[in-house]
Amino acid sequence: MIFNKTLDDVKVYEAGKPIELVVREYGVKEEDIIKLASNENPYGTSNKVVKKLQEVSVNACIYPDDSMYELKEALANKFSVQENQIIIGAGSDQVIEFCVHAKCNSKSKVLMAKTTFAMYEIYAKQTGATILKTQSDEHNLDQFRDIYKNQGADIIFLCLPNNPLGECLDAKDVYEFLDEVDENTLVVLDGAYQEFASYKDGAKAINPSEVIAKYSNVIYLGTFSKAYGLGGLRVGYGIAQDDIIQNLYKLRPPFNITTLTLAGAIEALKDEQFVQDCIEKNFIQMKRYEDYAKSKNFKYIPSYTNFITIYLDGYFSKDIAQKLLEKGVIVRDMTGYGFNAIRITIGTQEQNTKVFKILDMVLND
Ligand SMILES: *Cc1c(COP(=O)(O)O)cnc(C)c1O
Repeated sequence: MIFNKTLDDVKVYEAGKPIELVVREYGVKEEDIIKLASNENPYGTSNKVVKKLQEVSVNACIYPDDSMYELKEALANKFSVQENQIIIGAGSDQVIEFCVHAKCNSKSKVLMAKTTFAMYEIYAKQTGATILKTQSDEHNLDQFRDIYKNQGADIIFLCLPNNPLGECLDAKDVYEFLDEVDENTLVVLDGAYQEFASYKDGAKAINPSEVIAKYSNVIYLGTFSKAYGLGGLRVGYGIAQDDIIQNLYKLRPPFNITTLTLAGAIEALKDEQFVQDCIEKNFIQMKRYEDYAKSKNFKYIPSYTNFITIYLDGYFSKDIAQKLLEKGVIVRDMTGYGFNAIRITIGTQEQNTKVFKILDMVLND
């Protein structure tokens, strides 16, 4: 069978290993597995959301309100924007997909940092677009500028903070950069971990309403999958001027999130205290990873997220990740990105204590 030529070069996204696989392949008991590979919220989901989901589960037979009015209204209030400046996706992933398909074809160029969220490249390649990457792994705006001036771009992705490395540009530097970008280039500001970054350092905080008021070519993306603890519900959003949103809407399938998802996300926005508590605990626990890394003389990337990337000098990260997996600790090996490092989602206090113990065992093995 002949498929679209553009697919020849598309890699299939590899998600973090699921708990079921570790049970099946390594015989670890489900309750002993510590899954720290996908940056999910280790504190779970707000109790209020769980209760709401139970209540609305009888409505599983009914299509969701396709206007998603209530959720958009709640987001509009939270971010001080209008409902017509918001689009909801099945994860912000789906909004990334809409952005790429709205702007790109085989003649397009998509600019991103060398080591960043894998889906930018995957969606771009589906359209046959050319991928332009900075030389430096972390975001370096001067390198973005150079490439943009010399080659142009139809879309620029800035991941703020960046997954999988954890670094984050200052908002003022981002705004300066936006001033230099042509209004026909769509700039995607991916704020999947903004809740964490803005808590740790106000200088990193992106203000979507200010950004979209000033720039007609920028879309801000947020998600319920990380700080809000709703990865399993699949819901995210894009905030931009009406013109961008209207065009993305042309790509949206009907009922792109579920009835339960919609109710869960609306409820989650009513329990910001849960989110704040999780973020506070996250950084208390992250300090333990930094201290652990220092105690082993491992370098790490200071992180503005709910994960940390630690270099494993003197070891092979791939082997270490595999040995951790066999003991029920699921982390992300970074060998595929060209890093001898692992990316670990910051777990709960109890999980992290176990991780350090098991990591000690594996490193001494
Ligand atoms: C997790 C993540 C997303 C989106 O996740 P969804 O679950 O699809 O909302 C987007 N960008 C980055 C950088 C992420 O890490």
